[in-house]
Parts: sequence; structure tokens; C-alpha cells
Amino acid sequence: MPKYIVTIGLEVHAQLTTQSKMFCACPREFGAEPNTHTCPTCLGLPGALPVLNEAAIEKTILTGMMLGCETPPIVKWDRKNYFYPDMPKNYQITQFDLPLCIGGGVPLYDLAYPKDAQKSIVNPGKVVKLTRIHLEEDVAKSTHHDKFTTIDFNRAGTPLMEIVSDPDIDSAEEAFAYLTSLRQILIYGGVSDADMEKGNLRCDVNISLRPEGQTELGSKIELKNLNSMSAVRRAIKYEIERQTEALDKGEKLIQSTRRWDDDRGETSLMRTKEDAHDYRYLPDPDLIPLRTADIVARVRPLVPELPHEKRARFEKDYGCSAYDAGVLASEKELATWYEAAVGADTSVPPKKIANWVINDLLGILKDSEGGISSCPLKPEALSALVAVVEEGKISNTQAKEVFAEMFESGKPASEIIKAKGFEQVSDTGALEVIVDQILAANPDKVAEVKGGNEKAMNWFTGQAMKASQGKANPKIVTDIVRKKVLG
Ligand SMILES: [Zn+2]
Repeated sequence: MPKYIVTIGLEVHAQLTTQSKMFCACPREFGAEPNTHTCPTCLGLPGALPVLNEAAIEKTILTGMMLGCETPPIVKWDRKNYFYPDMPKNYQITQFDLPLCIGGGVPLYDLAYPKDAQKSIVNPGKVVKLTRIHLEEDVAKSTHHDKFTTIDFNRAGTPLMEIVSDPDIDSAEEAFAYLTSLRQILIYGGVSDADMEKGNLRCDVNISLRPEGQTELGSKIELKNLNSMSAVRRAIKYEIERQTEALDKGEKLIQSTRRWDDDRGETSLMRTKEDAHDYRYLPDPDLIPLRTADIVARVRPLVPELPHEKRARFEKDYGCSAYDAGVLASEKELATWYEAAVGADTSVPPKKIANWVINDLLGILKDSEGGISSCPLKPEALSALVAVVEEGKISNTQAKEVFAEMFESGKPASEIIKAKGFEQVSDTGALEVIVDQILAANPDKVAEVKGGNEKAMNWFTGQAMKASQGKANPKIVTDIVRKKVLG
């Protein structure tokens, strides 16, 4: 059987976090009472005129800058004509041949891949090339019930950014990593909430297979209605298998659009090329072309430090491992929290704070709602706890107990340590008295230590710990025993 080369391209629709809609002043609000945020423009009533939303244009250009795209000096808007109940004026305003952003790419990084695929990444450090990003208006939201359909025009006319990749993705795992990386960058830039479950990030997949050795791409199959990361991965896997089987049997695949059924885990045919729309794009006469130079100059300073830049800096400046830096930079808020903890006390090694954040804080946050943004623990409080551990004032085991209580009660580490009586006795004079008593009472054990028995040494440390009710600093006790017995 021949082997096939898989080629995948993704079209991602991201809702922008603007105050108002794309061409009118109606508020853009998720979850409002249906059909309460509408006006003649977004209802598509005859004679209503669109007015460009500058914030939406700025956010799209910012996205392009974060992804290394170019913005043409002049852009324009076009009408895409089709008849459908969710689009009452019978055309959607979008961008055809002069979009806001051209080119660019999305860098994939190891932790962006699905967990079970991180050990077998085929193209580490890959950057998936982008074709373009354009800005358009969203359509109304239809909800299909048993015997009827309802429609909510609150979503009609809200700004929607379409990010189109080149057919540059080779596998379901890469598609997953692409979406993870892209989401992260959109959230970093504050341009979109990019939550697939809430529908503010939606994804269409184009996928084709061709036999090895053939340069011409195979028939393009489009998958619609993918609304979660796992659906994207599963649908692509399913489609690769389905197309491989068909090609193996000598069937010819035809260009078509398919629907993914998440419950059944399979795709089904929606339409073939013959039923494809002819959208008859034409420049929108209500919107004049836009010169972009001023907006580009205004937006450039707003480009934030990007996830991959932050990761590199955490490794270089804070001595984090690549894995730790990846986890810490995966969420902007988490990265900010970590840096606040590092900045709170510069004498505490940042690497140690990273360990606490990743192993303990994220562990405890997993079970609490809201993640890092609603974390009751302040960065300075964790820094203070790690400082006490580093000074050897409490043991690691005790510190874990203190940490759990800090998270629960919000009390500072010092207060909890005092209340629990965890303060270690590091006062050598006091400890020497204790050790002297134990040595005097156990001459046989002293002889064993002299004979080189390490276990006997540990026994003395244990006895001293007991005598001090657990407050003795074990390292200092051992040092004293060693000095007194062995000289
Ligand atoms: Zn409106």
C-alpha cells in the first residue's frame, strides 16, 4: 500500500474583545437576553449605513504584529453575498483581496502539543506559516430545537477576525499545538478571550491526502463545526483514517465539506463542490478603503512580550528549566504572578520559587475554581515562605503544611509557623546541652559511632529531635554529634 502525505490548513475565527460591534454602536456582550443588542445596522435593515469600529481594526493589526504579519498600506471591505437566515441583509461584510494582515506565522513549542504526544514531536521548533488575517462581521446565532429554530441577533455584526494558515500542518498533533500556541498569543495580546467552549474561538479544518511522490495536493476536504481542541484532534485523526482507507481501495476523493459529530466521533458529508456557493464578492460601496499607516504606528508600541520571549527570558534570567519556563509562561497571569513573587525578595532563588509555583501552587489550584486569577495566596506570601525554608528555619515537610494552611486561611507564613511551633532551634548552645545529655546516657551507641556506624549517628540525631520536640535543626544536631564524638 502506498504511503500518503497529509496536508492540513486551519481557518480560525476569533471574536474580538471590543466594547461595541463592528459597524454600529450596539454593545458586544456575551450572554445577554437574546435580541436586546440590535439596531437597524446590525439587523441589516434597508438604508442603514455601517461605520468602522477603530478598536477592532487596532486589535486585528496588533494580532498581526504579534504573529509577524505585514499590514498593507491600504485595506478595504467587501460584500460576500449569500442568502441565509442568520444574515438578514443577504451579504456579510468581510475582506476579500486587501485584508488587514498578510503572511506571518505561529511558533509551536513542546508543551503546546497534547500531553501524550510531547515525547514524539516530529518537527520541534516549527513555525506554522500564515496566509492572512482579515476582519469581518459575525452572523446571528441560530439554535436548532426539535421542531423549530430560534435566532439571536446580539451576535450579528460583532467583530470577527479570521486567521488563515497555509496548508503547512502535518498532523492532528500539530493542529492541536497550533491552536494552543495561537490561543495563548491572542490572550497575551488581550485581543480575544479565545475560549473555544464559549464559542469565541471557532475552527474549520482543510485536510487532504496525496500519495508519496505526488507534488499536486489531493482533494481538499473541509471540516466544519469544530468547537473544542480535542474535537479538532479527533476529527483530523478520523478523517486521515477515512481518506487513507478510501484511497487504498482505489476510490477517488472529491472536494467537499463535512460535518463533525463529536458524540459519534465521525464526520458526515454536508455538500460537495458542485453545491459550493458563488459568493460574488464586490467592494462594499458604503465603506471607503482605509489607509493604515497611522494605525500601524499607534499600535506598534502595544505589542506585549510574547510567550516564547518570556520563556527564553525565564530560562536565562531566573535559571528555570525549559519545562518550568514553558509552564510558567503558558498563562500571562501565571507568569505575572511568578514574577511578582520573584521580585518580592530578590535574595530568594527564583528557581526555588518556580518549583513551589509549579509543584505546589498549581497542584492546589487544580482543585479550586478560577485558577491563578482568583488565587487567594499573594505572591509576596509565597516568597516569604520560600525564604524561611531557604534559611533552614523550617524543614521542607513543615513548609508544605504551612503552605496548605496559608492557602486556606490567608495568614502569613510567620504566623502559622509560630502557631504550629515549627521554629527550629538553631541555637548551638541549647542544642549542645541536649546532645551532651544523650551522649552521656548512651555510651554503647557512642562506641558504635566511633566504629563508623552511620546508623548510630542518625539514632543520635533522632533522639535530639525527640528531646527538642521536633524543633531542633537536624543538620546542626548531626554536626554537633559528629564533632563531639569523632572530634
Ligand atoms: Zn447594532
